[in-house]
Amino acid sequence: MKLEYKLSITEPWTHYVKVRLTGKRPKGQDTLDFFLPSWSPGSYLMREYAKGVRKFRAVSGNGEFLYFEKRDKGTWRVDWSQSELKAQGEEFTIEYEIYCNEISVRTSHVTEEHAFIHGPSVFMGIVGEVLDKPTLEIEFPPLWSKVTTGLKDISDKRERFIYEAKNYDELIDTPVEIGCHETNGFRVDGKDHHLAYYEWPENLPGDLRVDTQKIVESVFKFWGELPYEMYVFMGHFMPGIYGGLEHLNSTALQFDPFAVKTEEGYRDFLGLVAHEFFHTWNVKRIRPIELGPFDYRNENYTRMHWLTEGMTSFVDDLFVFTAGLSTLEQYLETLVKRIKRYEVTPGRKFDSLEDSSFDAWIKLYRPNENSRNTTISYYLKGQLAFFCLNILLVKEGSSLQNLCSLLWKRFKDNPEVGLEKSEFMAALRECSSQEVVDEFETFISHTTELPLETLASDIGLKLKYSTTTKGDFGFDWKEDGQRLFVQTVLLDKAAYKAGLNAGDELLAVNGFRLSTSMYKGWLKSLEVSDQPLHFLISRQGKIQNVEIAFEKAVPELESIEITDRKKAEAALKLC
Ligand SMILES: [Zn+2]
Repeated sequence: MKLEYKLSITEPWTHYVKVRLTGKRPKGQDTLDFFLPSWSPGSYLMREYAKGVRKFRAVSGNGEFLYFEKRDKGTWRVDWSQSELKAQGEEFTIEYEIYCNEISVRTSHVTEEHAFIHGPSVFMGIVGEVLDKPTLEIEFPPLWSKVTTGLKDISDKRERFIYEAKNYDELIDTPVEIGCHETNGFRVDGKDHHLAYYEWPENLPGDLRVDTQKIVESVFKFWGELPYEMYVFMGHFMPGIYGGLEHLNSTALQFDPFAVKTEEGYRDFLGLVAHEFFHTWNVKRIRPIELGPFDYRNENYTRMHWLTEGMTSFVDDLFVFTAGLSTLEQYLETLVKRIKRYEVTPGRKFDSLEDSSFDAWIKLYRPNENSRNTTISYYLKGQLAFFCLNILLVKEGSSLQNLCSLLWKRFKDNPEVGLEKSEFMAALRECSSQEVVDEFETFISHTTELPLETLASDIGLKLKYSTTTKGDFGFDWKEDGQRLFVQTVLLDKAAYKAGLNAGDELLAVNGFRLSTSMYKGWLKSLEVSDQPLHFLISRQGKIQNVEIAFEKAVPELESIEITDRKKAEAALKLC
């Protein structure tokens, strides 16, 4: 079916945009179901974008109202058989307004300064209909000067902005930035790469255009080809925001403009750039069988996020290193933080990578105060599983690049159908051995600890753990002004055994009034003692005493020492 979309942004300060769809129903078909997706590929949470819709209406080609009714939370049925029409015909126009006032990479954000249009949150599709080259016309305030998108520009005149997608999936998988953002770009392999950033920060530790190009060149070298005509890095720098979302030939990135000015923050941002860009291959094309074609109205379950996010998270900072934008030491500092986080997450004992992938919709994307005791992030354990797998491959004289080239070949042989786990394992077997396949199977389907220390030593790295005499109660806390609250109580630790609860306010310890500044200083000087600590707490307004016995802190990973630099660099340089 042919469909023309028109997006009108006439009063951006209201955060409402108007969307119009014009098309022809198939002859003899009395109903069409128009839906707005409930979720966005790449972000596994039901967001129910239809909640922002108002003024839905449907009219026929000669302007008569068509009958419609809501069928479920995100679906509107237009019914010609129930419409009282003077003139019959196939043409229809659907119109609605939608509220866009959430800044994130999976929502749309429209203000008097700019519009970021995230397709699934704005553009309706039609159930069961395949759209053939839908077009999108964009109308925006005269003071705005630019539209940036990965969609094909088919505008016939200077003052009109009309784009074309191959189908509905591509239309909503191509975000649009409209406003007065800064743009720049470069070419790699003869293909244009555009950068479009809202509030592009000045005085960064490096040249963002040049460094992005270095990452693109590294990832291109790894895969051997660029699977698009052009690519867009678009993003927003606003205080306190962070995120990235991959798309077919573009990505949306968000970062804090102050954090990105530090050396470490800048490297983190480049890691995010590498992460989302690598997704162009891994998840936008090579993907689990359940992830595309998509059912946008229901959860799409997969047990394979260890591949989509695990592998991508493993390579992101490594591409920054491979591209010469960080040192081995800097990479290892990041790795230390990640291993540390993994080792203090009790949930790894209950959920395998496959379990946590499957439950992404209710666990990773809907965390609560007890998540760390329940599950393990497939980003976190997934990347460490690939850290281990990479070493296993290197030890066999193979590499992650070999594995990826087999997966890429499989994608190109059958691009319409995603990957089964057995196909991934077959590719792994082809570039390594059955022992490696068996070991990796354990990493993803079991909860046994990853052999990080042993494998790291095989590539000239030594994990160094603390020998501490400090005490540990086993809870995290957060501050609210000078008030202290328990955030998470870790499984089987002293506070857990003593009955401390997440949400408890800590008022005093051993008779001394607590404040955040006092608590921080006191924690630093605390040594293990036989005497328990007496906490006075407030739980839902009721004052109570909790006695917590001391436990010696378990050794924490402090650093990774390089014992054989040549070996380590050879194993960790991706190409
Ligand atoms: Zn990702």
